[in-house]
Amino acid sequence: MPRPEGEAFLRQQDALLVGLGRLLAGQWGAPRERRTIILVSRSNMTTEFTQLNLHPQLLQAVSELGYETPTPIQENMIPFMLAGHDVIGQAQTGTGKTAAFALPILHNIVPGTGKVQALVVAPTRELALQVSKAIYAYGRLREVRVLAIYGGQPYGRQLNRLRKGVDIVVGTPGRLLDLIERKALDLSEVKTVVLDEADEMLSMGFIEDIETILDNTPAIRQTALFSATLPTPIRKLADKYLHNPQSVTIQRKQLAASAIEQRYYLVNESDKMAALTRLFEIEDIRSALIFARTRVGTGELANELSVRGFQAEVLNGDLSQDAREQVMNRFRRGQIKVLVATDVAARGLDIDDISHVFNFDLPLDPEIYVHRIGRTGRAGREGIALSLVTPREQWRLRKIERFVRQSIRKFELPTIEEIQTHREEELLRQMLVWLRRGRCSREREMVTKLIEEEGYDPLEIAASSLKLARAEEKQRPIERIGEVVTKPSRSRDSRQRQHEATKRNGRARGSKRSYEKGMIRLSLNAGRSQGIRPNEVVGQIAFHADIPGHTIGAIQIQDQQTLVDIPERFVAQVLAKNGSYRMRKQTVTIAAG
Ligand code: AMP
Repeated sequence: MPRPEGEAFLRQQDALLVGLGRLLAGQWGAPRERRTIILVSRSNMTTEFTQLNLHPQLLQAVSELGYETPTPIQENMIPFMLAGHDVIGQAQTGTGKTAAFALPILHNIVPGTGKVQALVVAPTRELALQVSKAIYAYGRLREVRVLAIYGGQPYGRQLNRLRKGVDIVVGTPGRLLDLIERKALDLSEVKTVVLDEADEMLSMGFIEDIETILDNTPAIRQTALFSATLPTPIRKLADKYLHNPQSVTIQRKQLAASAIEQRYYLVNESDKMAALTRLFEIEDIRSALIFARTRVGTGELANELSVRGFQAEVLNGDLSQDAREQVMNRFRRGQIKVLVATDVAARGLDIDDISHVFNFDLPLDPEIYVHRIGRTGRAGREGIALSLVTPREQWRLRKIERFVRQSIRKFELPTIEEIQTHREEELLRQMLVWLRRGRCSREREMVTKLIEEEGYDPLEIAASSLKLARAEEKQRPIERIGEVVTKPSRSRDSRQRQHEATKRNGRARGSKRSYEKGMIRLSLNAGRSQGIRPNEVVGQIAFHADIPGHTIGAIQIQDQQTLVDIPERFVAQVLAKNGSYRMRKQTVTIAAG
C-alpha cells in the first residue's frame, strides 16, 4: 500500500490516534454499557481546573474569566472527552456544559490547519452565538478561529470566513446543511461533533437534518450529545451515532435552586386570565416571563394582559430572527417588563434579572418546569415562580413535586377586596412621596384658587384629586373568579355537586338566566365576531353606568352576543339611556335578557 503523503498522511495519523485512544479506553470489542454518574452536590467536589490536564493556555483563559473550580459537569465530562470517549451529558443551561465540551475540543485543536476540526450543532441562532462566543473566550489565547453559522444572515460573510479557514464551526442545522450542500462547508476533517440541546432540536423537527450532518462527518470521530431530557428519539439517535458513550447526569434536585420561591394557585381553566391579572396587581414585578403552551396562546395572552393595562410582548416561533432579537434586547434593557413565551422561543434568553416566572400552563415534562423556573432566582437574587393549576392539571403538579423532591405550596388568589386595598395603599404611598418631596408649587396654586375663588373645602379638593388619580384603575377591572370545580367522578352524587357548583358560579353556558343570587343576566348585541372582550364590557359598563366594576358578574362572550350578569340593584342604571354603549368603535345595546 503506497504511503500517504503530506496532509493526507496527517489525516490518517489523526484518525489512527483517535482509534487508538478508543481501543485503549476499551470501547471497541467491549460490551456496550453506559456508565451513569449521578452528581450529588457541589460540596463533594475537590477537583481543581489544574488537575484536569488541560492546555496551560486554557487554564489561563478560564482563570482570567474568574472560574475558580470546575462545575460538576465539567469535572466529570472533561476527562472522558480528553480520553476520546463519546459522551452523553444530561444537563441544562446554567450548569457550565459549554465549557465541559469546549475545553476538551480546544485542548485537542491544532490551530491554523485551515480545516474545520470540531462542529457544534445548536437548535437556535441565539444558542449558536452564545456557544461560539464562549468557545472564542476560552480559546482566545490559543488563537483558535470560531465561526457561528445560522440562518437569516447573508451568506457572503459566512462563505468568506469559511474560505479563509476556521477551526471550529458552531451552527444551526438548517444553515449547516445548506452550506454542506453548496460544498462550502467541508467536514471531512472533523474530529469532534457536539449536539447541543438535542431535545430542543428534536422538538423543532431537526432530527433528520442532524442525521444528514453526522453522515457528512468522518465515521471515526468523537460525538458528544447534550440534552436536558432523553426522550426515545434522542436515545435512538445516540444508539445509532455514538459508540459506547459515557454518560454524565446532573442530579435534578440541584437545578431547582432554593433561591426560588415556588407557589401554585388552583383555578378553573376559564379563570386563568383573571387569576394572572390579580397576581399582577399584587406582586412586585421587576420583570416577568410567562410561559404558555402554544404560539397562539402566547399572542392571546400578551394581548389580554395589554388590554388590562399590563404591557406585554410575545416571544414565539412566529417572529422573524430580527424581531426575536429586538424583543429580547428590549427585555434585556428593561424596556419591556413582561414577555410571554413558548418554551422553544425562550431558549437563548439568558437574563439574570427576571423576578417572576409564571406558568400559565403547567408543562407536561417536569424537567421543562425546572428549566422554566431556573430563569429566575439567578445571580444571587430572589426569584418567584408562580403556577396556575387547574383541577385537571393537578396530577402534573404532583409529578413535578416528585421530580424536584419538594412540595410546592398552594396559595389563595388575592381577593377583590385585597386588591382594592393594595391599590389604595399604593396610591397613598405615591402621594406620601410627593408630600415629603413637597415640590408641588404649581398644584398648590391650583388648589388655592379652588379654595379662594370657588370656595371649595380642601378635604373635598383632595378627595376629588384622588378620584382623578384613580381614573386609570377603570382600565383594570378586577374580574370575578369562580369557585374551583374539582374533577367530577362518575358518581351521580358528585355530578350533582358539580352541577350545583356550576350554578352557583353563574356559568351555565348560554343560559339567559343568571344563577348567581341577586344577579340579573343582561345581553349585549355584540360578541366575539365584533371583537368584544370581557375587560371592555366591564370597563365600559362600570364607567358609563357609574357602578363598581367588581360588582359585575359572569361574562359570557358568544359569537354574536354577550351575556353579562349585573347586580339587581344596578340594572336600572345599566339600562338607562336605552342601554346604549360604545365598544370597539361601535354603538352596542344592552337589554334585559
Ligand atoms: P452554560 O451552562 O455553559 O451556559 O454556563 C452557564 C454560566 O456559567 C456561563 O455564564 C459560564 O460563563 C459560567 N461558568 C461555566 N463554568 C464555570 C465555572 N467553572 N465557574 C464559574 N462559572 C462558570
